Amino acid sequence: MRITAVTIRVFRIPLRQTVASATLTLTHRELILVTLESEAGPIGTGWATTPGVGALAARALIDNYLLPLLIGQDARHHERIWQRLWTHCHFAGSGGLTTLALAPIDVALWDAKARAAGEPLHRLLGGSRSEVPVYASAINIHLTQDELLAQVEGHLLQGYAAFKLKVGRANAEEDLERCRAVRALIGPDRELLLDANQKWTPAEAVQRCRMLAETRPGFIEEPSLSDDVGGHALIRAQGGIPVALGERLGNRFEFWNYVRAEAVDVLQPCPWKVGGITEWLRIAALGACANRPVSPHGALELTAHLAAALPNCTAVENIFGFGLAEIGATTVPLPVRNGRMTLGEAPGHGVIFDGPALREYEVV
Ligand SMILES: [Mg+2]
Repeated sequence: MRITAVTIRVFRIPLRQTVASATLTLTHRELILVTLESEAGPIGTGWATTPGVGALAARALIDNYLLPLLIGQDARHHERIWQRLWTHCHFAGSGGLTTLALAPIDVALWDAKARAAGEPLHRLLGGSRSEVPVYASAINIHLTQDELLAQVEGHLLQGYAAFKLKVGRANAEEDLERCRAVRALIGPDRELLLDANQKWTPAEAVQRCRMLAETRPGFIEEPSLSDDVGGHALIRAQGGIPVALGERLGNRFEFWNYVRAEAVDVLQPCPWKVGGITEWLRIAALGACANRPVSPHGALELTAHLAAALPNCTAVENIFGFGLAEIGATTVPLPVRNGRMTLGEAPGHGVIFDGPALREYEVV
């Protein structure tokens, strides 16, 4: 399993619809694809996606600094390789672009390992279950209340039992009205989850959370800047809604700082942001030690494997409009039925990218 060649390709793919959260308007997904080869041919594929920023810089980092350290390595030694690459780039950043660049490489290493073992990733990583609950998630703050309710109703009809919506409108009463309407639509027993995408100051977040608490959200995600650990400790102590975050945290230490500051209830590591599966597993273990559930961020095609592997993961997130099949990166739709996803038996992660369809979006 000696690595003899590494191919990196970057794609910028338009979304079918422009969507907005409280802090971002999104028009594209960026996709970074990494293929590892041995003398016998391709052995593993990894990928990462971004909301539109960072892929080209990650490619430059891989090309100029990481690739020379990969050639000649044995792909089975994922810990050795991860540590080597992370240490080499630590000056440039211990989380962020460095870990974004590491992620597709690390996923490709795990894919190679699983394919060599003839095992699907979810079983190689732990084999806790073969089916995982999925929650419906949408970037929808730009929708009118009627459009929002129609969207949630559509997901309800598909059998979902948990729904995440965006909050952080300028008018706090509008947020409350939208949450009340969605709660009325989904009834008392299904789960309502909220995401403010870092919109508020900690003091604003406490006020907003106290207003929204009557709709009984399962959590409020990123109520404030995720760089502010102390701010989230305040929100968690005084807001009255459990706090979830992690999609912008870059490594296990950043999660540990949150856990030990009693500033988070639900850990949401994103495999793209934390340098792939190797570091993600460490964060999931931290969640187990701290008795905090792990709710993986996005990346459903990969996080379903991770959540199926481990017992302390809650539902995985289906962000409508962002799936690899929805952006045309693969022709195989996800097997999600009635809010549950069954894991496949194909060796590795099982994702087959649609090379010809992707070609027109390649950034060379
Ligand atoms: Mg979010």
